[in-house]
Amino acid sequence: MSIVIDLDGVIWRGSQFIDGVDIALAHMRRKFDQVLYVTNNSGPTSIELLKRLRKVDVIAQESDLITSAAAVVPLLNAKDVVLVVGGEGLNEAVNLSGATIFKDENVFSIKELIPQIVDKNEWMKITAVVAGIAPNISYRQISYATLAIMNGAKFIATNDDATFPIENNLVLPGAGMTVAAIKSTTNKEPIITGKPNAAIISLISQRSQNKVEFVIGDRLSTDGELAKRLNANFIQVLSGVSKERSIEAKYVVRNIVELLNII
Ligand SMILES: [Mg+2]
Repeated sequence: MSIVIDLDGVIWRGSQFIDGVDIALAHMRRKFDQVLYVTNNSGPTSIELLKRLRKVDVIAQESDLITSAAAVVPLLNAKDVVLVVGGEGLNEAVNLSGATIFKDENVFSIKELIPQIVDKNEWMKITAVVAGIAPNISYRQISYATLAIMNGAKFIATNDDATFPIENNLVLPGAGMTVAAIKSTTNKEPIITGKPNAAIISLISQRSQNKVEFVIGDRLSTDGELAKRLNANFIQVLSGVSKERSIEAKYVVRNIVELLNII
């Protein structure tokens, strides 16, 4: 049997690991034939995420890590010119797909931006806009995204989680902020690749050698729904964004460490 474990809010919050998570994860590796780490966070690259997992003694293969950014790859082709409104993880995914990343000019005022748009017309080459958590989001990027999508470019987003959990019980804006900005200017809905959608489900099905028995996650709308679609049991942890108990969860625990006595 396989188990799917979410990262943000389950293994760590921001830069802080959940206390005792190394022991809990070692237990999961003993109990299950395969542990898949599945995240909607497209900010870090897969190398960065694997490195972080090593800090809690998880020596995972690249194939055991599935991100919403990796789920973008099959939706792009080598001919695409892609505007990335997101982090390094998304750049990595676009490079993997063989598509070209659109490089926009660094302009900082509308006055400088208009000639770029009207005279240079470079944005017309954009065939896909990929949105994720975007710590460097700018007015310029949203302008290009808007124009490109209105011009027929594909609109793909990793997820629309409004927030993600960090230490001290705080949350920061998630990819949902990027998606909301582009939706508001284009009135278009993106194809969302992350949990619980088809693109990431198909990666999970390809990578898991066995039936997924459990999904452990903190967010009902993504992890809970993913469990349902995989026909797996949902285990809700309250160490992340959601404080509201799911009635559909098989178990609701304070954090992953509590599972040591349960599964
Ligand atoms: Mg989470």
